[in-house]
Amino acid sequence: MIKFRSRAFVVLTSLIIVVLIGLGILLGQFFKYNFLDTLNDKIKVEIWLLLTVGLGLAVIVTVILAISITTRYTKPIKAATEVAIELAHGNYRARTKVNRIDDTGMLGSSINMLAENLQELTKVREIQQDRLSALIENMGAGLILFDSRGYINLVNKGYADIFHIDPSDYINKQYYEVIDYEEIRQLVAEVFRTEQKVSKQLHLPLQIERKYFIVYGVPIIGANNVWKGVLLVFHDISEMKKLEQMRKDFVANVSHELKTPVTSIKGFTETLLDGAMNNKETLQSFLSIILKESDRLQTLIQDLLELSKIEQHGFQLNIQLIDLYSVLQDVLNLLDVKAKTKNIQLEFHSKRNKVLLYGDLDRLKQVFINLINNAITYTPADGAVRIILIDGEERVRISIKDTGVGISREDIPRIFERFYRVDRARSRNSGGTGLGLAIVKHLVEAHHGSINVRSNLGEGSEFIIELPKEMILMDGDS
Ligand code: ADP
Repeated sequence: MIKFRSRAFVVLTSLIIVVLIGLGILLGQFFKYNFLDTLNDKIKVEIWLLLTVGLGLAVIVTVILAISITTRYTKPIKAATEVAIELAHGNYRARTKVNRIDDTGMLGSSINMLAENLQELTKVREIQQDRLSALIENMGAGLILFDSRGYINLVNKGYADIFHIDPSDYINKQYYEVIDYEEIRQLVAEVFRTEQKVSKQLHLPLQIERKYFIVYGVPIIGANNVWKGVLLVFHDISEMKKLEQMRKDFVANVSHELKTPVTSIKGFTETLLDGAMNNKETLQSFLSIILKESDRLQTLIQDLLELSKIEQHGFQLNIQLIDLYSVLQDVLNLLDVKAKTKNIQLEFHSKRNKVLLYGDLDRLKQVFINLINNAITYTPADGAVRIILIDGEERVRISIKDTGVGISREDIPRIFERFYRVDRARSRNSGGTGLGLAIVKHLVEAHHGSINVRSNLGEGSEFIIELPKEMILMDGDS
């Protein structure tokens, strides 16, 4: 500051000198008429010379000073002003040139520092903004924000995906004008009215399906209790609800399946105890029914335990190199008697008599017993069941084709569900539990294979299994 003042002082003094010289010239002119005319010519010339030189010097000093002031003060200040204007317009990359270390230089470097800070702040704000919008867009839930007057301010991708809408049709619109669901409009109104958090479970129709949502409505209240708006967050819980329903159905199914044989066993035992056991024939017949029902109970419990074991996390196969040809031969030998009783022709076709692959011997046997047993069960007497084994380069294909009752197109996706039976009575009579195909599917998938069904009602069915020859280790395998 002192430096600046001393310089200003020099400039001011110079200016005063110039003004004084100017005044001197004026006085000279004045004296020319009143005083100089009385002097002789030589002195007059000298005086004129002196005055001219003085005037010339004053002009030169003035020009030099003017240039020096402009370059020292005006230019840097102008440049700094221009940068300040650029900053005010949001261009934080603007900088001024600093080539002095005096006060104007300090002004320039301060402005540059300010610009740098602003640029840094903007960068940080942009990063935070990006993070926030990435979070809002990908939070895995639908989000919609209303301002204090009910206008929609924000709709995230989750919301747009759930309700199949274009967010631009919603922004700056009143919520009751664009939201079609009465339940959602009521929820927004409730939060506005009560200024309290609300959470509700909604079951909403969306295109061709109905979905379950947990919706949280939150009032947004800023500093000093200023009412800022309402936020709604939608969590899709349909999958959870489906699992809950499956669990309920499963418990109901198991109870039902267990109840039937238990009721039967209890009924026959009570009748026997009430005196029927005295009749030898009745006793024998009832006891064989009780045995049959107990067998059924045992199979059901075994299947249930088996299924729960296979479905357990960490279920492991006992992988070894096996010959699928001989596995199928064993299964056919096992089921030959059953086929013969129904006069069903069992055929086995394979170009090779050794088909090697890596798999779990017992589990694969279980798969083929289930499938071939089903083929025999659901084929009327005098029919045929054909098994074709094809040894591919990387995969093995096994087809089990029957000439039986067939499965309708609607039932095909459901037969792998637990306890699903197309014909309940037929399945029960044949000792089926309705769990066989669920077990088969799990086991085939555990081998990283696939199972497909081709069937038409009344025209027989074909179950096609493909298994990789090498076991590919996937997540969860060990
Ligand atoms: P189940 O013990 O009742 O046989 P599964 O899970 O093995 O149970 O089969 C489910 C249902 O799929 C059966 O009840 C039957 O209706 C149908 N199904 C299975 N295999 C065949 C087949 N080869 N032909 C016709 N229907 C079949």
